[in-house]
Amino acid sequence: MNLARLFTDTVASDPDRRALLLDDTVFTYGEIDEASARVATLLTDRGIASGDAVGVMLPNTPQFVIAYYGVLRAGGVVVPMNPLLKSREVAYYLGDSGARMLFAAEAFGPEAQAGAEQSGAEVVIVGEPAGFVSSLRDQEPRPEVADREDDDTAVLLYTSGTTGQPKGAELTHANLASNVRVTQDDLLQLTADDVVFGGLPMFHVFGQTCALNTAMAAGATLLLLPRFDAGVAAELLATHRATVFAGVPTMYAALLGLDDAPALPDLRVCVSGGASMPVEVLRRFEERFDAPVLEGYGLSETSPVASFNLPDRERRVGSIGVPVSGVEMRVLDPQGQEVATGEVGEIAVRGANVMKGYWNRPEQTAEVLSDDGWFRTGDLGKRDEDGYFYIVDRKKDLVIRGGYNVYPREIEEVLYEHPDVAAAAVVGVPHPSLGEEVGAAVVLKTGASTTADELRDFVKQRVAAYKYPRLVWVEDDLPKGPTGKIQKRDIEVPAELTEDLR
Ligand code: AMP
Repeated sequence: MNLARLFTDTVASDPDRRALLLDDTVFTYGEIDEASARVATLLTDRGIASGDAVGVMLPNTPQFVIAYYGVLRAGGVVVPMNPLLKSREVAYYLGDSGARMLFAAEAFGPEAQAGAEQSGAEVVIVGEPAGFVSSLRDQEPRPEVADREDDDTAVLLYTSGTTGQPKGAELTHANLASNVRVTQDDLLQLTADDVVFGGLPMFHVFGQTCALNTAMAAGATLLLLPRFDAGVAAELLATHRATVFAGVPTMYAALLGLDDAPALPDLRVCVSGGASMPVEVLRRFEERFDAPVLEGYGLSETSPVASFNLPDRERRVGSIGVPVSGVEMRVLDPQGQEVATGEVGEIAVRGANVMKGYWNRPEQTAEVLSDDGWFRTGDLGKRDEDGYFYIVDRKKDLVIRGGYNVYPREIEEVLYEHPDVAAAAVVGVPHPSLGEEVGAAVVLKTGASTTADELRDFVKQRVAAYKYPRLVWVEDDLPKGPTGKIQKRDIEVPAELTEDLR
């Protein structure tokens, strides 16, 4: 169950195989292996021992992969960090995790350096792939992978979770390796012949498990894309004949928004997760690109995959599927009792994929993780009589309008049915008497001219009167988080709309 061994076992079977592709340059398994073995020596020479945290603040490049497996090989704990972090944030991550070293990209060096100075960590500035590899030449490759127990932490993955400041979810070797195996065997049925899209950020759990580690465990080729752009992604998928696509729903919507996307005849399976996939987007994508889109569900704390629409079972559009192998799921009421089939409650997860806890935060861990291993996700959902689960919404995104629960997702689905809507996000807007009013920020397709009033009426005709968004406004774009998920907390309601509410 050693995460580094998932990679080194593949290397041993065929070192000349293509592991990574970036800008038409191929990096073989053997090359990545040798460079990461040198990184392991570098770390050991600088006093990094088993269990020590090391920051990896790099975009989706071969250098990320080299540093990542280098740290694991030395027995260290990887602390993946978004390369766009500012110095204060860098200092927070390093200080909180106790990381004494940080690999940072040259392009983001100044912020990384400033942050590391504040926390007292040493920075290794990482340049272009060839430069990075040659800078390691003085280090002898460390021949063996350091022994780690299944229950030892492999990755400290910072996540805001349901509330508060980012906390480090302690993901063990067993957590991640078991989830990689499930993704490889049951979800993607991945083989060495597969070509996998690598445009989800690898510092986030979805890209790290479902693209990086799974592709490397299977001996497949990973197409690295440091910054997602739909046009570039479509070209990359077509040119290199990608067979597997993993993305968040906004990526699917962006690909659909391309006027002249190439056909993708080699695409065999697409995976969506990280946020709810609007049914209309799924259907249109499948029609246009002729490949099945399978939706799954998970969180940083669950390594991430908890449930999935498995390829060998009936797929239920709009559902997050069934718990994957080694994972159980339940729907709980606020007292922690299981609710009846079809009723909405908080989803809880137990299994091999569930984190050990939040690093150095026993109280916050105890709030979400019970003694018998059930992790409360903060997501509201339900289960049908056949065991399929459905996400209703995040607990914290729920809008309570005049005492009535409005689930934004339901309203978003209706907005996506409108032919002019490219993206939609429904949020609660503070209201003096109702508590909250329902607001909808909408992005229109290029050239569309539907008005906000028309969109409001469109929803009004289709849902109960208490639910439809009284406030609708059109935006050029919606704020997105690092993975491309729509970031609701950053949505601003236009002042002229809120004035009337006062
Ligand atoms: P993160 O820890 O950044 O991976 O975010 C996890 C959160 O993403 C979950 O708590 C859910 O709210 C959301 N999420 C993940 N997958 C889905 C899905 N298929 N449908 C709806 N929400 C999802």
